[in-house]
Amino acid sequence: METGLLKLLREWFRKNAVALPWRPADLDAPRDPYAVWISETMLQQTQVSMVRDYFTRWMKRFPDIETLAKASEEEVFRYWQGLGYYSRARNILKTAKIVRDDTREATLPNSRKELEVLPGIGAYTAGAILSLAYHQREAILDGNLVRIFSRLHTLDFLPTESRNALKTYWDYAREIADSAKAYMHNEALMELGRTVCKVKNPYCDSCPLRKACKAALENRTAEFPPSKRHTQKDWHGTVLVIESVDHKILAVHGGQRFFKNQFTLPHFESPRNATAGLPAQAERYIDADKVKSVENIGKFRHSITIHKMECDVLYIRLNGKAPAPTSSDIKWIRRGQAQDFFASSFCLKALDFLEKI
Ligand code: SF4
Repeated sequence: METGLLKLLREWFRKNAVALPWRPADLDAPRDPYAVWISETMLQQTQVSMVRDYFTRWMKRFPDIETLAKASEEEVFRYWQGLGYYSRARNILKTAKIVRDDTREATLPNSRKELEVLPGIGAYTAGAILSLAYHQREAILDGNLVRIFSRLHTLDFLPTESRNALKTYWDYAREIADSAKAYMHNEALMELGRTVCKVKNPYCDSCPLRKACKAALENRTAEFPPSKRHTQKDWHGTVLVIESVDHKILAVHGGQRFFKNQFTLPHFESPRNATAGLPAQAERYIDADKVKSVENIGKFRHSITIHKMECDVLYIRLNGKAPAPTSSDIKWIRRGQAQDFFASSFCLKALDFLEKI
Protein backbone atom coordinates (compact mmCIF):
# COMPACT_ATOMS: atom_id res chain seq x y z
CA MET A 1 0.00 0.00 0.00
CA GLU A 2 1.47 3.37 -0.95
CA THR A 3 2.70 5.65 1.84
CA GLY A 4 0.13 8.38 1.10
CA LEU A 5 -2.66 5.88 1.69
CA LEU A 6 -1.08 4.62 4.90
CA LYS A 7 -0.89 8.21 6.12
CA LEU A 8 -4.62 8.67 5.43
CA LEU A 9 -5.29 5.43 7.30
CA ARG A 10 -3.29 6.64 10.34
CA GLU A 11 -5.06 9.99 10.34
CA TRP A 12 -8.42 8.27 10.14
CA PHE A 13 -7.50 5.97 13.03
CA ARG A 14 -6.22 8.76 15.29
CA LYS A 15 -9.51 10.56 14.79
CA ASN A 16 -11.84 7.56 15.02
CA ALA A 17 -10.21 5.00 17.34
CA VAL A 18 -12.87 3.80 19.76
CA ALA A 19 -11.92 3.75 23.46
CA LEU A 20 -11.50 0.12 24.53
CA PRO A 21 -10.33 -1.30 27.88
CA TRP A 22 -7.29 -2.93 26.22
CA ARG A 23 -6.37 0.15 24.15
CA PRO A 24 -4.35 2.93 25.85
CA ALA A 25 -5.25 6.55 25.07
CA ASP A 26 -1.78 6.99 23.55
CA LEU A 27 -2.09 4.92 20.37
CA ASP A 28 1.69 4.90 19.90
CA ALA A 29 2.39 3.37 23.30
CA PRO A 30 3.53 -0.27 23.29
CA ARG A 31 0.91 -2.50 24.93
CA ASP A 32 1.16 -5.07 27.68
CA PRO A 33 1.71 -8.34 25.71
CA TYR A 34 -0.45 -10.23 28.20
CA ALA A 35 -3.39 -7.83 27.69
CA VAL A 36 -3.00 -8.05 23.90
CA TRP A 37 -2.98 -11.84 24.08
CA ILE A 38 -6.10 -12.06 26.27
CA SER A 39 -8.09 -9.44 24.36
CA GLU A 40 -7.21 -10.83 20.93
CA THR A 41 -8.05 -14.38 22.03
CA MET A 42 -11.39 -13.24 23.44
CA LEU A 43 -12.12 -11.29 20.26
CA GLN A 44 -11.83 -14.40 18.08
CA GLN A 45 -15.43 -15.27 17.17
CA THR A 46 -16.85 -12.75 19.69
CA GLN A 47 -18.10 -9.19 19.27
CA VAL A 48 -16.13 -6.28 20.75
CA SER A 49 -19.21 -5.07 22.66
CA MET A 50 -19.36 -8.40 24.50
CA VAL A 51 -15.62 -8.73 25.09
CA ARG A 52 -15.31 -5.33 26.85
CA ASP A 53 -16.88 -6.54 30.12
CA TYR A 54 -15.33 -10.00 29.98
CA PHE A 55 -11.87 -8.50 29.49
CA THR A 56 -12.27 -6.02 32.36
CA ARG A 57 -13.49 -8.73 34.73
CA TRP A 58 -10.72 -11.08 33.63
CA MET A 59 -7.93 -8.54 34.11
CA LYS A 60 -9.23 -7.67 37.56
CA ARG A 61 -9.06 -11.31 38.64
CA PHE A 62 -6.02 -12.39 36.58
CA PRO A 63 -3.94 -9.21 36.10
CA ASP A 64 -0.83 -11.08 34.95
CA ILE A 65 0.46 -14.44 33.77
CA GLU A 66 1.65 -15.50 37.23
CA THR A 67 -1.78 -14.99 38.79
CA LEU A 68 -3.48 -16.76 35.90
CA ALA A 69 -1.09 -19.72 36.00
CA LYS A 70 -2.09 -20.42 39.62
CA ALA A 71 -5.85 -20.53 38.84
CA SER A 72 -7.84 -23.75 38.48
CA GLU A 73 -9.42 -24.69 35.15
CA GLU A 74 -12.87 -24.45 36.78
CA GLU A 75 -12.27 -20.86 37.81
CA VAL A 76 -10.85 -19.88 34.41
CA PHE A 77 -13.90 -21.42 32.75
CA ARG A 78 -16.17 -19.41 35.06
CA TYR A 79 -14.56 -16.18 33.88
CA TRP A 80 -14.91 -17.38 30.28
CA GLN A 81 -18.47 -18.61 30.63
CA GLY A 82 -20.59 -17.17 27.81
CA LEU A 83 -17.75 -16.52 25.38
CA GLY A 84 -17.98 -20.06 23.95
CA TYR A 85 -15.16 -22.06 22.34
CA TYR A 86 -13.83 -23.22 25.70
CA SER A 87 -10.72 -24.68 24.14
CA ARG A 88 -9.53 -21.06 23.95
CA ALA A 89 -9.76 -20.71 27.75
CA ARG A 90 -8.10 -24.07 28.31
CA ASN A 91 -5.23 -23.12 26.00
CA ILE A 92 -4.79 -19.75 27.71
CA LEU A 93 -4.30 -21.53 31.02
CA LYS A 94 -1.89 -24.06 29.53
CA THR A 95 0.16 -21.31 27.91
CA ALA A 96 0.21 -19.24 31.11
CA LYS A 97 1.70 -22.23 32.98
CA ILE A 98 4.30 -22.86 30.28
CA VAL A 99 5.34 -19.19 30.20
CA ARG A 100 5.51 -18.99 34.00
CA ASP A 101 7.66 -22.12 34.20
CA ASP A 102 9.91 -21.38 31.20
CA THR A 103 10.60 -17.67 31.34
CA ARG A 104 12.30 -15.72 34.09
CA GLU A 105 9.82 -12.86 34.20
CA ALA A 106 6.67 -14.77 33.20
CA THR A 107 6.42 -12.70 30.01
CA LEU A 108 5.27 -13.82 26.59
CA PRO A 109 8.17 -14.35 24.18
CA ASN A 110 8.86 -11.76 21.49
CA SER A 111 9.42 -13.94 18.43
CA ARG A 112 6.90 -15.59 16.12
CA LYS A 113 8.76 -18.89 16.36
CA GLU A 114 8.49 -19.05 20.14
CA LEU A 115 4.93 -17.74 20.26
CA GLU A 116 3.41 -20.05 17.68
CA VAL A 117 4.44 -23.21 19.57
CA LEU A 118 2.37 -22.14 22.58
CA PRO A 119 -1.11 -23.69 22.91
CA GLY A 120 -3.80 -21.53 21.31
CA ILE A 121 -1.42 -18.98 19.78
CA GLY A 122 -1.63 -19.13 16.00
CA ALA A 123 -0.33 -16.89 13.27
CA TYR A 124 -2.93 -14.20 13.93
CA THR A 125 -2.50 -13.91 17.70
CA ALA A 126 1.29 -14.08 17.39
CA GLY A 127 1.16 -11.24 14.85
CA ALA A 128 -1.05 -9.17 17.15
CA ILE A 129 1.26 -9.65 20.16
CA LEU A 130 4.43 -8.89 18.17
CA SER A 131 2.94 -5.93 16.40
CA LEU A 132 0.79 -4.23 19.05
CA ALA A 133 2.85 -5.07 22.12
CA TYR A 134 6.44 -5.34 20.84
CA HIS A 135 6.06 -2.93 17.88
CA GLN A 136 7.66 -5.37 15.47
CA ARG A 137 6.93 -5.25 11.74
CA GLU A 138 4.77 -8.35 11.91
CA ALA A 139 1.63 -9.04 9.92
CA ILE A 140 -1.88 -9.71 11.18
CA LEU A 141 -4.63 -11.36 9.19
CA ASP A 142 -8.09 -11.60 10.69
CA GLY A 143 -11.58 -11.61 9.16
CA ASN A 144 -11.64 -7.80 9.01
CA LEU A 145 -8.42 -7.62 7.03
CA VAL A 146 -9.53 -10.43 4.75
CA ARG A 147 -12.66 -8.47 3.91
CA ILE A 148 -10.72 -5.27 3.27
CA PHE A 149 -8.05 -6.95 1.11
CA SER A 150 -10.70 -8.83 -0.86
CA ARG A 151 -12.46 -5.53 -1.63
CA LEU A 152 -9.34 -3.42 -2.17
CA HIS A 153 -7.97 -5.87 -4.74
CA THR A 154 -11.25 -7.55 -5.84
CA LEU A 155 -10.01 -10.97 -4.73
CA ASP A 156 -12.81 -13.40 -5.61
CA PHE A 157 -11.54 -16.21 -3.39
CA LEU A 158 -11.21 -16.80 0.34
CA PRO A 159 -7.93 -17.54 2.12
CA THR A 160 -9.39 -20.86 3.29
CA GLU A 161 -9.73 -22.15 -0.27
CA SER A 162 -6.13 -23.13 -0.96
CA ARG A 163 -2.56 -22.65 0.17
CA ASN A 164 -2.01 -20.14 -2.63
CA ALA A 165 -5.11 -18.20 -1.67
CA LEU A 166 -3.90 -17.98 1.93
CA LYS A 167 -0.47 -16.86 0.77
CA THR A 168 -1.98 -14.09 -1.36
CA TYR A 169 -3.81 -12.65 1.65
CA TRP A 170 -0.77 -12.95 3.90
CA ASP A 171 1.35 -11.22 1.27
CA TYR A 172 -0.99 -8.22 1.40
CA ALA A 173 -0.88 -8.32 5.20
CA ARG A 174 2.94 -8.41 5.13
CA GLU A 175 3.01 -5.47 2.78
CA ILE A 176 1.12 -3.45 5.42
CA ALA A 177 3.41 -4.70 8.17
CA ASP A 178 6.52 -3.78 6.23
CA SER A 179 6.22 -0.14 7.21
CA ALA A 180 7.14 2.16 10.07
CA LYS A 181 4.23 2.21 12.54
CA ALA A 182 3.08 -1.21 11.35
CA TYR A 183 1.38 -1.63 14.76
CA MET A 184 -0.88 1.29 13.96
CA HIS A 185 -1.62 0.22 10.39
CA ASN A 186 -2.57 -3.27 11.56
CA GLU A 187 -4.83 -2.02 14.30
CA ALA A 188 -6.34 0.70 12.11
CA LEU A 189 -7.29 -1.88 9.48
CA MET A 190 -8.93 -4.11 12.08
CA GLU A 191 -10.91 -1.10 13.32
CA LEU A 192 -11.77 -0.01 9.79
CA GLY A 193 -13.12 -3.48 9.04
CA ARG A 194 -15.18 -3.47 12.21
CA THR A 195 -16.69 0.00 11.91
CA VAL A 196 -16.53 1.12 8.25
CA CYS A 197 -15.78 -1.73 5.85
CA LYS A 198 -18.65 -3.72 7.29
CA VAL A 199 -19.82 -7.08 6.01
CA LYS A 200 -23.00 -5.53 4.63
CA ASN A 201 -23.29 -1.99 3.28
CA PRO A 202 -19.76 -0.65 3.94
CA TYR A 203 -19.51 3.11 4.55
CA CYS A 204 -17.24 3.74 1.59
CA ASP A 205 -17.85 7.50 1.68
CA SER A 206 -16.13 7.64 5.10
CA CYS A 207 -13.29 5.28 4.17
CA PRO A 208 -9.71 6.57 3.95
CA LEU A 209 -8.87 3.84 1.41
CA ARG A 210 -11.68 4.62 -1.00
CA LYS A 211 -9.59 6.05 -3.80
CA ALA A 212 -7.56 2.81 -3.98
CA CYS A 213 -10.40 0.36 -3.46
CA LYS A 214 -11.21 -1.51 -6.66
CA ALA A 215 -14.51 -2.91 -5.40
CA ALA A 216 -15.74 0.56 -4.34
CA LEU A 217 -14.57 2.19 -7.57
CA GLU A 218 -16.35 -0.48 -9.60
CA ASN A 219 -19.42 -0.33 -7.34
CA ARG A 220 -19.09 -4.05 -6.57
CA THR A 221 -18.52 -4.13 -2.81
CA ALA A 222 -21.38 -6.62 -2.30
CA GLU A 223 -19.46 -9.21 -4.36
CA PHE A 224 -16.41 -9.23 -2.08
CA PRO A 225 -15.34 -11.25 -0.28
CA PRO A 226 -17.17 -14.14 -1.98
CA SER A 227 -19.50 -16.07 0.27
CA LYS A 228 -18.31 -19.23 1.93
CA ARG A 229 -18.64 -22.35 -0.13
CA HIS A 230 -19.90 -24.37 2.82
CA THR A 231 -23.09 -23.60 4.66
CA GLN A 232 -24.09 -24.26 8.23
CA LYS A 233 -25.04 -27.81 9.10
CA ASP A 234 -28.28 -28.56 10.86
CA TRP A 235 -27.88 -30.90 13.83
CA HIS A 236 -30.71 -32.27 15.91
CA GLY A 237 -29.95 -33.88 19.22
CA THR A 238 -31.08 -34.83 22.70
CA VAL A 239 -29.55 -33.62 25.94
CA LEU A 240 -30.02 -35.73 29.05
CA VAL A 241 -30.59 -34.14 32.43
CA ILE A 242 -30.44 -37.10 34.80
CA GLU A 243 -31.27 -36.31 38.42
CA SER A 244 -31.16 -38.53 41.50
CA VAL A 245 -33.52 -38.24 44.50
CA ASP A 246 -30.76 -36.50 46.44
CA HIS A 247 -30.81 -33.79 43.72
CA LYS A 248 -27.61 -34.54 41.92
CA ILE A 249 -27.20 -34.13 38.17
CA LEU A 250 -25.07 -36.45 36.04
CA ALA A 251 -22.04 -34.89 34.32
CA VAL A 252 -19.89 -36.89 31.90
CA HIS A 253 -16.44 -36.34 30.42
CA GLY A 254 -15.57 -37.59 26.94
CA GLY A 255 -17.50 -39.87 24.64
CA GLN A 256 -19.83 -37.03 23.58
CA ARG A 257 -20.36 -35.36 20.22
CA PHE A 258 -19.37 -31.91 21.51
CA PHE A 259 -17.26 -30.66 24.44
CA LYS A 260 -14.89 -33.62 24.26
CA ASN A 261 -12.45 -32.20 26.81
CA GLN A 262 -14.72 -31.00 29.55
CA PHE A 263 -17.54 -32.25 31.73
CA THR A 264 -20.87 -31.82 30.01
CA LEU A 265 -24.43 -33.15 30.05
CA PRO A 266 -24.76 -36.40 28.06
CA HIS A 267 -26.01 -35.65 24.55
CA PHE A 268 -26.33 -37.41 21.23
CA GLU A 269 -27.70 -36.93 17.74
CA SER A 270 -31.33 -37.94 17.42
CA PRO A 271 -34.16 -37.51 14.92
CA ARG A 272 -36.74 -34.78 15.40
CA ASN A 273 -39.83 -36.04 17.25
CA ALA A 274 -37.97 -39.07 18.60
CA THR A 275 -40.27 -41.44 20.43
CA ALA A 276 -40.54 -41.03 24.19
CA GLY A 277 -39.02 -43.42 26.71
CA LEU A 278 -35.57 -44.07 28.05
CA PRO A 279 -33.00 -43.76 25.24
CA ALA A 280 -30.37 -46.48 24.97
CA GLN A 281 -27.65 -43.83 25.35
CA ALA A 282 -28.82 -43.16 28.92
CA GLU A 283 -28.21 -46.78 29.85
CA ARG A 284 -24.48 -46.20 29.47
CA TYR A 285 -24.73 -44.34 32.78
CA ILE A 286 -27.78 -45.61 34.68
CA ASP A 287 -29.77 -48.83 35.10
CA ALA A 288 -33.20 -48.78 33.46
CA ASP A 289 -34.76 -50.23 36.62
CA LYS A 290 -33.50 -47.21 38.65
CA VAL A 291 -35.51 -44.79 36.48
CA LYS A 292 -38.65 -43.28 37.96
CA SER A 293 -39.73 -41.11 35.01
CA VAL A 294 -38.62 -39.76 31.63
CA GLU A 295 -40.02 -36.47 30.42
CA ASN A 296 -39.28 -34.13 27.54
CA ILE A 297 -39.07 -30.76 29.31
CA GLY A 298 -38.18 -28.44 26.44
CA LYS A 299 -36.28 -27.64 23.32
CA PHE A 300 -33.56 -25.05 22.66
CA ARG A 301 -31.41 -23.78 19.82
CA HIS A 302 -27.67 -23.40 19.94
CA SER A 303 -24.73 -22.93 17.56
CA ILE A 304 -21.34 -24.60 17.77
CA THR A 305 -18.82 -23.96 14.99
CA ILE A 306 -20.78 -24.70 11.79
CA HIS A 307 -23.50 -26.66 13.57
CA LYS A 308 -26.89 -25.03 13.88
CA MET A 309 -28.38 -27.13 16.62
CA GLU A 310 -31.84 -27.86 17.88
CA CYS A 311 -31.92 -29.96 21.04
CA ASP A 312 -34.63 -31.69 23.03
CA VAL A 313 -34.05 -31.81 26.76
CA LEU A 314 -34.95 -35.16 28.30
CA TYR A 315 -35.34 -35.08 32.07
CA ILE A 316 -34.71 -38.48 33.64
CA ARG A 317 -35.63 -38.75 37.30
CA LEU A 318 -34.08 -41.63 39.26
CA ASN A 319 -35.85 -43.47 42.05
CA GLY A 320 -32.78 -43.58 44.27
CA LYS A 321 -29.64 -41.72 45.26
CA ALA A 322 -26.85 -40.97 42.80
CA PRO A 323 -24.87 -44.21 42.29
CA ALA A 324 -21.14 -44.20 43.03
CA PRO A 325 -19.29 -43.15 39.83
CA THR A 326 -17.78 -46.13 38.02
CA SER A 327 -15.04 -44.00 36.42
CA SER A 328 -13.38 -40.59 36.70
CA ASP A 329 -15.36 -39.57 33.59
CA ILE A 330 -18.56 -39.45 35.62
CA LYS A 331 -19.52 -36.94 38.30
CA TRP A 332 -22.74 -36.23 40.14
CA ILE A 333 -23.14 -32.51 40.71
CA ARG A 334 -25.45 -31.01 43.31
CA ARG A 335 -28.31 -29.28 41.55
CA GLY A 336 -27.55 -26.01 43.38
CA GLN A 337 -23.98 -26.08 42.05
CA ALA A 338 -24.76 -27.14 38.48
CA GLN A 339 -24.95 -23.59 37.11
CA ASP A 340 -21.38 -22.96 38.30
CA PHE A 341 -20.03 -26.37 37.37
CA PHE A 342 -21.14 -26.59 33.76
CA ALA A 343 -19.16 -24.02 31.87
CA SER A 344 -20.88 -24.15 28.48
CA SER A 345 -24.01 -22.17 27.65
CA PHE A 346 -25.15 -25.35 25.85
CA CYS A 347 -25.55 -27.10 29.23
CA LEU A 348 -26.88 -23.98 30.94
CA LYS A 349 -29.66 -23.70 28.37
CA ALA A 350 -30.70 -27.31 29.06
CA LEU A 351 -30.52 -26.82 32.85
CA ASP A 352 -32.72 -23.72 32.63
CA PHE A 353 -35.67 -25.98 31.87
CA LEU A 354 -35.26 -27.63 35.29
CA GLU A 355 -36.26 -24.38 36.94
CA LYS A 356 -39.54 -24.40 35.04
CA ILE A 357 -40.85 -27.80 36.20
S1 SF4 B 1 -13.84 1.82 0.13
FE1 SF4 B 1 -15.54 0.69 0.96
S2 SF4 B 1 -15.22 -1.44 0.34
FE2 SF4 B 1 -13.30 -0.33 0.01
S3 SF4 B 1 -12.13 -0.70 1.85
FE3 SF4 B 1 -13.24 1.21 2.15
S4 SF4 B 1 -15.17 0.66 3.15
FE4 SF4 B 1 -14.25 -1.20 2.32
